[in-house]
Amino acid sequence: MFIGVDLGGTNTRVGAVNSSGQVFHRLSLPTRVNLGLEEVIGRIVSTILSVIEQSEKEGYQIKGVGIGSAGIIDIRTGTVVTSPNFPEWSQVPLKLIMENKIPYPVFVDNDANAFAYGEKWVGVGKNVQSMVCITLGTGVGGAIILGGRLWHGFDGMAGEVGHMTVQPNGLRCNCGNYGCLESYASASSVVRRIKLAIQSGRTTIVMDQVNGDQDKITSTIVYQAALEGDPLAKEIMEETAVYLGIGIANLINLLNPELIVVGGGLANAWDMLYPITLAEVRRRAFASLAQTAQIRKASLGDDAGIIGAAGIASFSLKEVAYAI
Ligand SMILES: [Zn+2]
Repeated sequence: MFIGVDLGGTNTRVGAVNSSGQVFHRLSLPTRVNLGLEEVIGRIVSTILSVIEQSEKEGYQIKGVGIGSAGIIDIRTGTVVTSPNFPEWSQVPLKLIMENKIPYPVFVDNDANAFAYGEKWVGVGKNVQSMVCITLGTGVGGAIILGGRLWHGFDGMAGEVGHMTVQPNGLRCNCGNYGCLESYASASSVVRRIKLAIQSGRTTIVMDQVNGDQDKITSTIVYQAALEGDPLAKEIMEETAVYLGIGIANLINLLNPELIVVGGGLANAWDMLYPITLAEVRRRAFASLAQTAQIRKASLGDDAGIIGAAGIASFSLKEVAYAI
């Protein structure tokens, strides 16, 4: 078994994962970033040790601990360089600190990479040698697996598919660029774009559902309104699917992958997005490449973070994952 740690800005989730991806002894704790580095790590370590103890009591053998975190991670040393979840953390040698307190090897990687490790290990990417993973959440994350290995890039930052330009004169992105995929295909961009449309005078049943309070709009509410036939909500969801298709077509032409995996909160609208995205991909990518590339929804659901983090440990121990 491997221990997976989904290190989030609000909650941290820990679980023991077997080689089929089943999760045991899930424990969740509020991360409480404000308590300071030592206290935060101390609380996570006790939780990990308690999951290890429970697993070992049942006779399971633990082989390693994987940690997935948002941000820039130096995977060679397991250091969190910077992270949006932990604004005060800078160059935190997480692997080193953890390995002083936990009797197993610890591996740290970025959360989008963890997502890819999970899908490759036990999800839709099992037995697939080349795939691109895209997460449609608050932002748009990504990870690339080539020849069965995660492609980290020269600086460990590869796979930032969310910041490909898909609209040269598009909306400003958090990264400073204009028209990034993230500005059109993230869950928060759906909310942002419907708010802009409402402010420009468009009407939508979404406003009834939030009692007129724009701050209560979520991408799920927009999706539901689109399902109910609301023209504006449908337009926004369709636009999202088209831009996702543009991004995926670029990735297919560039990498000729066997599989594209789409996850994250907005992937819950997959049934609505997929046909439009697929049509856009077929319109833009080389026909033969678009035909071979499968585009699938991620398969690991709520446990994706824990399973992906455990996948980091599994792949790292097999020494197949580090492509630098
Ligand atoms: Zn960007």
